[in-house]
Amino acid sequence: MKLRVGVDLGGMSAKLGVVNENNEIVAHKVIPTEHGITFEETIAKLAEGILSLGDVGIVGFGVPSSLMPGSDIVIYANNLGWKNKDIKAELAKHLGDIPVYVANDADSATVGEYFQGAGRGYQSVLMLTLGTGVGGGFIYNGHLYRGGNGCGFEPGHMTIQVDGVPCTCGKKGCLESYASASAIIRELSNSEVPSLKAFIAENGGKPTARMLFDAVRQGNTAAQDILDNYVKALAVGIGSLVTILRPQIVLLGGGVSAAGDLLYRPLRAMMKDTVFGYDVIGCPEIVPATLGNDAGIIGAAMLDHVLL
Ligand SMILES: [Zn+2]
Repeated sequence: MKLRVGVDLGGMSAKLGVVNENNEIVAHKVIPTEHGITFEETIAKLAEGILSLGDVGIVGFGVPSSLMPGSDIVIYANNLGWKNKDIKAELAKHLGDIPVYVANDADSATVGEYFQGAGRGYQSVLMLTLGTGVGGGFIYNGHLYRGGNGCGFEPGHMTIQVDGVPCTCGKKGCLESYASASAIIRELSNSEVPSLKAFIAENGGKPTARMLFDAVRQGNTAAQDILDNYVKALAVGIGSLVTILRPQIVLLGGGVSAAGDLLYRPLRAMMKDTVFGYDVIGCPEIVPATLGNDAGIIGAAMLDHVLL
């Protein structure tokens, strides 16, 4: 049987995996994607890695970029320094007529969770990844939603605050500016509350998202305030998305999603204030994604099943 290969392309490395008929990764390979080599050289290295896995029948790529509608050309992958690059055309020089599918990396992770993770068994799945930024994907009736014009699904750049905190995208008040791990780190760094400053100093001096939850567990009220604001922003974002998209389940991935009850209990409680029709239909469950870094590889390998 020919192999199904998924590639999760990141700024530091590309993770390659062979995915079997049970949607499990059975072979794995990591290829550095260091800066300083050209797009063509990187693709050549990736193609070599893909072909070394065996008799490849299909390849899927999750890419940290928006894609040009219709052509799947990478518009701008900041981490890789790629602008207007045609991955499919470049790969075809090495892979011949092996079919290649390309999607945004957060979309690929959502597809992975849909087939093999916490979204298994549902037809319409919303996922948000709470990491350095806020990404996400949406599967609607078994198909990956890429927008009517193909420009993709960018929940992190939904404005939740007029004239709010500046975002990396150039807008202000994006969900990402409030609900990412970077937002937590920013709030911890900006805090002038002595008890919280002391807590950060005692724990190495460099704020992390995990540190916020540790401080809350120790009863630090300044940390609790930051967490309350974080949950509020996330609840506004999820509530709006649920009101519009009506998924059957909401998955949270990324580092912050592992925070447990400190995050999920208040978040679930706030959905009644942010979801339209809550009194009648409630809110879908909000649960952690389960596959971690494997989601992107598995999802990439399964892209042909969900792309229209
Ligand atoms: Zn933004």
